[in-house]
Amino acid sequence: MLTGRRYRLEFDAGQKLLAERIAAVCRSAWNTALEQRRAYRRRGAFIGYAEQCRQLAEAKKEFPWLAEAPAQVLQQTLKDLDQACRRHGTWKVRWKSKTRQAPSLRFPTPKHIPVEVINRRWARVFLPKLGWVRFRLSRPLGGAVRSATVSRDGEHWFISFLVEDGQRAPQVHARPDAVVGVDRGVVTAAVTSDGEFFDRRHATAFGVSSSEPPEESMAARADDRGYLSAGEAERYVRLQRRLARAEKGSARRARVVCALGAIMGRVRRRRADFTAQVAHRLTRDYAHIVLEDLKVRGMTASASGTAAAPGARVAQKSGLNRAILDKGWYGLEVALRSAARYTGSVVSAVPAAYTSRTCSVAACGRVDAKSRESQALFRCTACGYVEHADVNAAKCIKAREQAAGPVVSGRGDFGGARVGEASSARSTARGAPRAAA
Ligand SMILES: [Zn+2]
Repeated sequence: MLTGRRYRLEFDAGQKLLAERIAAVCRSAWNTALEQRRAYRRRGAFIGYAEQCRQLAEAKKEFPWLAEAPAQVLQQTLKDLDQACRRHGTWKVRWKSKTRQAPSLRFPTPKHIPVEVINRRWARVFLPKLGWVRFRLSRPLGGAVRSATVSRDGEHWFISFLVEDGQRAPQVHARPDAVVGVDRGVVTAAVTSDGEFFDRRHATAFGVSSSEPPEESMAARADDRGYLSAGEAERYVRLQRRLARAEKGSARRARVVCALGAIMGRVRRRRADFTAQVAHRLTRDYAHIVLEDLKVRGMTASASGTAAAPGARVAQKSGLNRAILDKGWYGLEVALRSAARYTGSVVSAVPAAYTSRTCSVAACGRVDAKSRESQALFRCTACGYVEHADVNAAKCIKAREQAAGPVVSGRGDFGGARVGEASSARSTARGAPRAAA
């Protein structure tokens, strides 16, 4: 199966600069080629990958700086653009910006990027134009390299190898009948219908019991699942204030942006680590994992289920929090689908409107907002059933999937198919992960 392996590269100062320049060349190739495609479209014509490649080769004679980038990396840029335009349309594809996107280079052919293991701890990779670069073998490569992407995250450069690990997907999950519904709790990151709580709360981050964080910390709650420690959250807020005061284009501003990026990078890595662990646990234990479908959620769900105080800021905040939550949730879904390939699990998504106020007892099923007594407690107004509110919601999610019919599990790759179901609306929710909307 194809899998990813990411390592931190030990570029020297010269290599860092060169990588930055190569990325700039690719960025300008992308932007020029995109503009060219649009110009053609405006006059009702079309230009494709092959022709753009040919013109690029021509342009290299005239603009020697283009040759600073490895030929295959430049070509890959045009290929990526071609794919993006096919998928999203020429007008929806975005410009590459120096400030908004981290620089990244794709090396498509393994024979141009040989990897050598130096010893138990270190390996090195040869990158065209950049030369040999060492990286710490934090884990074994575990297979044949198919391609690699070199990118910068904050101040460090990383290499992500696409590796064929030679493993085969199991036909059937070890526990073929185990089904679980997963709800994203308001306080806990993920809650299962079996009453398991997955939480990644960093040390003394804003706790459940602690009083509401001060108003200003709301920005720092940019990661309100508690991936930030209290100290980091404080620093984040301070930096944001400093950013607001810094003059545009100043060196001071650049420093602040860099420091903010470092904090958020840490958050991203913690989140990725957390979702990978949850995904591993869930796919190991369950043949079928049911999530809520985010695409339909936005239309129905209320901000959080707590009584929100009036005022624009609150609305703004909950909007932000929800966006962040969605992001984390999407990450979990991607991690689950990836891990599911190794266990034969099936991941599916169901519309989850009103799960927070629906009684999960099959014979009851009463929908009543009053059943949600508090953030944590669900007490059905009809049958008196008492359960943790998030667990109740997870049970509802599981029940909705089961009401939709049996699923054939263990198809190896992403997801499975429902018996007698045309692969229509539902299969889109289960297809290969796509970029978040
Ligand atoms: Zn009930």
